Amino acid sequence: MGELNLILLGPPGAGKGTQAELLRSEFQIPHISTGDMLRQAVAEQSELGELASSFMDAGNLVPDEVIIGLLLEALARSDARDGFLLDGFPRTIPQAEALGADLGKVGRKLTGVLLIEAPDEEIVRRISGRRVNPASGRIYHVEYDPPKVEGIDDVDGTELVQREDDKPETIRNRLAVYHEQTAPLADYYDNLGLLHRFDGSAAPAEVFTHIRATIATLKLEETI
Ligand code: AMP
Repeated sequence: MGELNLILLGPPGAGKGTQAELLRSEFQIPHISTGDMLRQAVAEQSELGELASSFMDAGNLVPDEVIIGLLLEALARSDARDGFLLDGFPRTIPQAEALGADLGKVGRKLTGVLLIEAPDEEIVRRISGRRVNPASGRIYHVEYDPPKVEGIDDVDGTELVQREDDKPETIRNRLAVYHEQTAPLADYYDNLGLLHRFDGSAAPAEVFTHIRATIATLKLEETI
């Protein structure tokens, strides 16, 4: 069986993280989220974290030269050698080109790009209701997945917070940045014959059923 090298593309809040978790447990491929890597760097107050946090808090992209190096390092790690699932990368055409060039150098290629789409209004509603346990990263939603006691994590009692970049005014900017800088990647990958579209406003389990069927077809095509 060939390796499964997948990209999850789509606006913030379309459900990429949820699908990534489902894919990871079904196909045992490492989930590489540049957003998670950056948030960890911010929490550790590393040099990278200090640099990234002002971009992130404003909902802007961290510069390509910073993020590309970080991602390529993660890809070179042993557990990503037999397949990977990228979530939140690439977000610009130069990032996509750097990824393609790096994979090409070692004779690897992408299996497919999964684009999960959702209307802006739905995204604002979803993200602005998101609350997170800052220690564990566990996520709740005030409407769709509330904790038993408002504002408190069910598992360890930690007070939940709203991520700075989940505030409504920042979400608007993240969406604008998405439409301007990341959405062109849909055409880019479509031209390479790699793009598969999914309706992210459907229930997560339904989205996953469609994604799983697409991956089964991709695997089958590979063996022919
Ligand atoms: P995410 O959790 O994927 O929405 O990422 C959170 C924030 O991290 C984004 O709003 C950006 O500021 C930054 N970020 C994550 N991935 C990238 C990337 N590939 N390129 C530039 N910035 C990124």
